[in-house]
Amino acid sequence: MNKSKDFLRRIVEEDLKSGKYQEVVTRFPPEPNGFPHIGHAKSITINFGIAKDYQGHCNLRMDDTNPTTEDTKYVEALKDAVQWLGFEWDEQVHFTSDYFPKLHDYAVELIKMGKAYVDSLTEEEIREYRGTVTEAGKRSKYGQRTVQENLDLFERMKNGEFKDGEHVLRAKIDMSSANMKMRDPLLYRIRHAHHFRAGDAWSIYPMYDFAHCLSDYIEGVSHSICTLEFENNRDIYDWVLDTLGLVTPRPYQHEFARLGINYTVMSKRKLLELVEGGVVSGWDDPRLPTIAGYKRRGYTPESILNFCDGIGIAKANSMVDVAQLEFAIRDDLNPKVPRVMCVLNPLKITIENYEGVEEIDAPYYPHDVPKEGSRKLPFSKEIYIDQNDFDENPPKGYFRLTPLQPVRLKYAYIITCKEVIKDTNGNVVEIKAEYHADSKSGSDTSGIKVKSAIQWVEATQAKSVEVRVYDRLFKNEAPQGVEDINPNSLKIIKNALIEPAVITQRPDVRFQFEREGYFYADPVDYTDENPVFNKIVGLKESSSKKKKAPQKTPKSEPKKVQIDGEVVAMSEEEQVLFDKYTNELKLNFEVANTLARDKKLSDFYEEALLTLNSPVNIANIVTNDVARALKQKETSELKFSAKQIAELIKMVDDELISSKIAKQVFEEMSKSGENPTQIVEAKGLVQISDPDVILPIIDEIIAKNPDNVEKFRAGNRKLLGFFVGQVLKATKGKGNPKVVNELVSRELQ
Ligand code: ATP
Ligand code: MG
Repeated sequence: MNKSKDFLRRIVEEDLKSGKYQEVVTRFPPEPNGFPHIGHAKSITINFGIAKDYQGHCNLRMDDTNPTTEDTKYVEALKDAVQWLGFEWDEQVHFTSDYFPKLHDYAVELIKMGKAYVDSLTEEEIREYRGTVTEAGKRSKYGQRTVQENLDLFERMKNGEFKDGEHVLRAKIDMSSANMKMRDPLLYRIRHAHHFRAGDAWSIYPMYDFAHCLSDYIEGVSHSICTLEFENNRDIYDWVLDTLGLVTPRPYQHEFARLGINYTVMSKRKLLELVEGGVVSGWDDPRLPTIAGYKRRGYTPESILNFCDGIGIAKANSMVDVAQLEFAIRDDLNPKVPRVMCVLNPLKITIENYEGVEEIDAPYYPHDVPKEGSRKLPFSKEIYIDQNDFDENPPKGYFRLTPLQPVRLKYAYIITCKEVIKDTNGNVVEIKAEYHADSKSGSDTSGIKVKSAIQWVEATQAKSVEVRVYDRLFKNEAPQGVEDINPNSLKIIKNALIEPAVITQRPDVRFQFEREGYFYADPVDYTDENPVFNKIVGLKESSSKKKKAPQKTPKSEPKKVQIDGEVVAMSEEEQVLFDKYTNELKLNFEVANTLARDKKLSDFYEEALLTLNSPVNIANIVTNDVARALKQKETSELKFSAKQIAELIKMVDDELISSKIAKQVFEEMSKSGENPTQIVEAKGLVQISDPDVILPIIDEIIAKNPDNVEKFRAGNRKLLGFFVGQVLKATKGKGNPKVVNELVSRELQ
């Protein structure tokens, strides 16, 4: 079970076990300069989630050190987001600005220790003096100021005697440090600006690197979790606290990878541009990745939380497919929301042989959802169907109404087209049809075969509504900004028709409009006169991006009755498996979904688990490699068994082979049917972890690349990857990546 814990939780557990901290205290520290987005949701789930899991607490802290960009409206949006996601902060909201007096005193202390000085170089000179990655910097002559001079100047900076940019306070560390951030970082700058909370009390404002570690310390934070771009700032974090001797108990910084999602921009600066440029309707535009946007669009907090948990916590930046987020909301709503009928593009049908009115009882939930409830659908000779559900000249494989092909009106009767009525331009404006009285859903004795059932509404009682259909805001995967906007990201349908039951419900509800998707009554614009619904998400993944789709209809099973466009709901057994996989075995939901819906795969998986309890790693190989093999074959035809797969994964878990080599062994196994252990032995694939073997290889590569060594030592940490890669290549992939990494880091020092 420990295997599936993320690395942050493992650190926290170790720290509690070793007695380093009595209590876990985390914080979520946004700068209130924009609305929070889904990246913040990730940070919120990590910080609040960890505090909750280990009975600690998490502070909500506004990191408000930049008076020119911050505002109370952003503070409110941040509070709202945290609450909406279901978390509570400890007591009051904290503000870095509340610590301004304390931070100032710490700065004075550093000056007195000779560890900080007032510099009077211009911004440009400061940059020049800092040097480059390959060249040491040099200290400004002002670095020689006496403690007394520094105290005096700093006091006058504080009192507003100087203009913006005239002086700064800097830490006196090391102008030749390999970590450029450590070359006398700025601690304070002058800003004559009104602060939204502190007012005009201050003319100097602390920099992030100074304020953040101290605020953590002041609040008694134990684990200061931030994103990877702060990795190099960690040295300053430690320097400030250590130099000031703030050690009991001291917070430590830990970094994780920022969440990035394709087809999305995620920096507040870029979002602000879209909002201020009027490209979207506001911070809560349902197309934005802001929490306010998702909330307005109809996403549930659960879906966002599931998404954040499902993608895990990584140490290396990567891009998450937006389809995974869409999957999470669908997955959450599918069993929860009632299904109703709405016709987006109405086409009138007159049923010539029907007289009178009747009411048809129709369930809100499909049979395999453990929820009950139904409503009455009025039915008469005048109804509307969707224009897309009739085709006069249908393409092959068209299953809906045509002049020759009858169709079922969902929950009601089968109709046959009798006459197509067109306007002068040749557009179809009405269909005259005939219904089959003995074909009523549930008691159909007509014997008429239809290929699909379509949604419809009764003409006189249907209500006209506005439907806002959203598509992705950006047309390409890695958008930069306004130039990549998808011009079709919002389509407004003014006169969609909806069945009367929907309208009598209170507005704050979500529905599945059958065959169209999930919809939410817009919380801002919805009125009784003009009901407005937002499309939350479609029923299946949009066709533009299918490759990483969670598998919906396993090829290995006979297809269930599927009305086009509809995701087949899970059967009861599938749901049980899915719950077990996600809750107990901690598989991410995409993997769990694939397994649960495919009996061949889940049987195979369960059997492998009997041999080895490594649920996550086995699930990965089963859903990837084994699934590929099972596409062409039956389980009985495979050359390898579930037991052998378990054996293979055991070697990976024991670090006998790397997962890369495991792939190679798998290929071999599926061809020859040989035992994985035999293959590994015969081919000499055992992972090399012995430093005596690895070190000479490292030394050779270091000797061959003097330029990169120099760059690395001058601070370009990214080159670590280069060296590790070279070494792994030299070992033909057999080097133990963890060991290689450690040894390379050590040798490069
Ligand atoms: P942006 O670049 O979008 O403006 P930021 O990092 O400046 O974001 P802050 O308000 O400073 O935003 O961030 C508050 C917290 O949220 C920080 O701890 C930050 O690391 C985290 N955070 C921000 N964006 C992401 C993201 N995309 N993924 C994970 N965490 C994030
Ligand atoms: Mg920022």
